[in-house]
Order: sequence, then C-alpha cells, then structure tokens
Amino acid sequence: MPYYNFKCMECESITEVKASMQEKEAGLAVECPNCKSSNTTHVFGNIATMVGSRSSAPASACGLPAGGGCANGACGLF
Ligand SMILES: [Zn+2]
Repeated sequence: MPYYNFKCMECESITEVKASMQEKEAGLAVECPNCKSSNTTHVFGNIATMVGSRSSAPASACGLPAGGGCANGACGLF
C-alpha cells in the first residue's frame, strides 16, 4: 500500500499517510496530528530528496546520471 505525504496548510508539518489507490481517488481527508486541522494538501514525492539532492551529478538527456549507461547509447537516444 503506497504512502502519501500530506502537508498541513496551517502549521506546515508533513504527515505520512498510508492509503490505497481507491481511498486516494475517493478523496482523503487527512487531519494534521500536530494542530488537528483538516486543511491539508497532498504533496508529491519524498520531501527529503526534494530539498537535498541537487548536488548530485547532473542528469543526462535520458535521465540517467551522466557517465552512466546513456553515454554508450544504451538508452537509445544516441
Ligand atoms: Zn497542522
């Protein structure tokens, strides 16, 4: 079952919620455990990698790290 990150619009804390795709599509009502607000919004991806991974090697055109399999045409772009 996938996890979803919900951000509280009141106190900006992130809540990790485990829910099925069906529950997600039906509209999850997530209550902030910190301030009990239901004013939460779904945020995509992993928060930690969003803020911390910019220093890694630049990605090549196909999305693989530069110097990886892309350089020899493995991805089919060259
Ligand atoms: Zn909150």
